[in-house]
Amino acid sequence: NVLFGAASKANLKVVVRVRPLNAREQANNAKTVIELVDEHMLVFDPKKEEDIFFYHGVKQRRDITKRQHKDQKFVFERVFGPESSNQDIFETTTKDLIDTLLEGYNCSVFAYGATGAGKTFTMVGRQDCPGITLLTLMELYARIDAMEAENPGSSVEVVLKKNEGSGCGSISNVSVAKLSMIDLAGSERGSSTGCKGARFREGANINRSLLALGNCINALADGKSHIPYRDSKLTRLLKDSLGGNCRSVMVAAVSMASTTFEDTFNTLRYSNRAKTI
Ligand code: ADP
Ligand code: MG
Repeated sequence: NVLFGAASKANLKVVVRVRPLNAREQANNAKTVIELVDEHMLVFDPKKEEDIFFYHGVKQRRDITKRQHKDQKFVFERVFGPESSNQDIFETTTKDLIDTLLEGYNCSVFAYGATGAGKTFTMVGRQDCPGITLLTLMELYARIDAMEAENPGSSVEVVLKKNEGSGCGSISNVSVAKLSMIDLAGSERGSSTGCKGARFREGANINRSLLALGNCINALADGKSHIPYRDSKLTRLLKDSLGGNCRSVMVAAVSMASTTFEDTFNTLRYSNRAKTI
C-alpha cells in the first residue's frame, strides 16, 4: 500500500484509537460510523448493505432522501479498536521511543481529538488502567536502572518538568533529550461548544494553538522550509520535537458513535494529513 509505505518512513507515527460506546450510547442503541477492517484500516461511514435493494433489476435506495454514505477508507500505522487497552497502545507506540530518547533525540507523544473521544483516558488513564504517560515513565526508569547496573560509572538523570520551554542541546559530554507527552485540548469546532465571554476566549486561544499545530503539520507535510512554529505557544513548545531530528507519535482519539459524526470525520482527516510528515 502506497499510503502506508509513506507513513512508515515518516518520523511522525500516527495511530488511531476508537473508544467503545459508553453506557448511555449503548442504552440508546447508538448507531456506529466506524468499521474496523484490520490493524491498519478503518472505514468511516460505511455503506450498509440494507440501504440498497433491487427493483425490476435496478439498484434502489430504500429511502431516496437518505444521504449518501461517505464510505471512506483510512489507513494508519495502527488502528486500535474498542477492545484495546492502554498497555496495547503503550507497547506499540511509545515503548520504542525510549531507545530514541536515550540516544539523545527529542520525542513527543500527543493525543488529538474531540472532547469525550478518549484523549485523557489514553494519556492519563485511571487507577486500574494507567495511561501511556505513566507506562512510558515506568519503562524509562526501568531502562535507566538497568543501564546503571550494567555500567555504574555513567548516570542518567530524568528531570520531570511541567510545561517547560528552555532550549536543549549538548554541553560537553552531557546530552539532553526532551520527551513531551501532551493531552491536547478538544479539537471540536469552537461554535459547537457555545461558550461566551472568558470561556469563549479560552476556546478561541485553544483553537488558535490547534490551528497553528495544523499549519505546522501541513507545512512539514509539504516539505516547506518555513514552518510557522512561532504562531502559538503550543507550537513554540513543540518546535524541537516535531520536525527534524526527533520522533513523534500522534494518537488520534475518536468515538464510533454516529452522534459525533463531524468530529470523528475531522479528526480522521487531520490525522491523515499528519501522517505524511
Ligand atoms: P477526552 O479527554 O478526549 O475528552 P476522556 O478520555 O475523558 O475524553 O474520555 C471520555 C470518557 O470515556 C471518560 O469517562 C473515559 O473514562 C471514557 N473512555 C474513553 N476512552 C475509553 C476506552 N478506550 N475504554 C473505556 N472507557 C473510555
Ligand atoms: Mg480530556
